[in-house]
Amino acid sequence: MKDIIIIGGGVAGLTAGMYAKRGGMDTLLFEKMFVGGQAATTYSIENYPGFVDPISGPDFAMKLESHARKFGLEILYDEVKEIVVDDKIKKVITEDKEYETKTIILAMGASPKMLGLDKEERFRGRGVSYCATCDGAFYKDKVTAVVGGGDTATEDALFLAQYASKVYLIHRRDQLRASKILQDRVLAHPKIEVLWDTVVESIIGEEQVEGISIKNLKTNTVSQLELDGFFIAIGIKPNNQLAVGKVDMTDDGFVIADETMATNVPGVFAVGDLRYKPVWQLVTAAADGAVGTLSAQRYIMENFE
Ligand SMILES: Cc1cc2nc3c(=O)[nH]c(=O)nc-3n(C[C@H](O)[C@H](O)[C@H](O)COP(=O)(O)OP(=O)(O)OC[C@H]3O[C@@H](n4cnc5c(N)ncnc54)[C@H](O)[C@@H]3O)c2cc1C
Repeated sequence: MKDIIIIGGGVAGLTAGMYAKRGGMDTLLFEKMFVGGQAATTYSIENYPGFVDPISGPDFAMKLESHARKFGLEILYDEVKEIVVDDKIKKVITEDKEYETKTIILAMGASPKMLGLDKEERFRGRGVSYCATCDGAFYKDKVTAVVGGGDTATEDALFLAQYASKVYLIHRRDQLRASKILQDRVLAHPKIEVLWDTVVESIIGEEQVEGISIKNLKTNTVSQLELDGFFIAIGIKPNNQLAVGKVDMTDDGFVIADETMATNVPGVFAVGDLRYKPVWQLVTAAADGAVGTLSAQRYIMENFE
């Protein structure tokens, strides 16, 4: 039986794993895709303390992984399909194996929200993208648009502007939510045009994105934009499928945990973007991971030793 099983190998999970192994806990981490999670899809990180020069997301993810592995963290590349949390000994179940553990740290993170337009799902990979860093290079000298007004949308617009001939940034309000430094860069960029008070009504194209139909909310004018790439950056939704019905959640599906990362189920902790909190960032994901592990460790001492 394991002391701690961590589900998810993003920044929160890897930090939890690093603390757990350093603290001498028998620990296993499951990751279904690639370590680093959302961080690994980020173009440039310049707000993580201690990294004075910007670091690319993949490089950052590799550093975190090596740091965790340095202390001996075992990472299994497998998807957790189910958790059983009713008893003191918990179960973590994959396609073909069942693992017992004293505690579980849920670190499944979040995924980009969809706009909910017709053709959005069908054209994913055919002009619709949720990851400018992953797909931006395909749009050299092409026309692109990004929807959103936060840090991710502005970062995406700036990233795309390195390749594309033109980037529209489409935002439903008359000011951006992004941090000031990003707003300033976007507004000053010669290739980026912000379309204020504007929503996207539909995607145009037969087999791939050829354009979008947009509406100005102040004038109600509907117009069309010819596009090659359409990037959606309107926020995140928690990857909570495993936890539904098992631990308490907000109406939006974020897991509720207190400041020790404890959920309402003893021995189950939630960290990172999966957890309801005011700020979803790398530094808070890492902090959650550390706190979650130390709380799990305390829980084990009080309940098993
Ligand atoms: C494009 C982009 C740019 C960003 N830029 C910045 C930035 O510059 N600075 C900043 O501070 N923050 C930034 N953020 C936010 C930051 O990346 C996140 O807050 C942080 O990465 C969250 O980490 P996490 O570990 O909680 O979750 P995630 O990174 O979402 O990781 C969760 C992991 O769990 C895995 N997983 C899910 N379900 C299962 C399962 N059932 N079994 C096994 N594994 C599973 C997933 O595959 C994933 O790897 C950015 C986010 C994006 C999308």
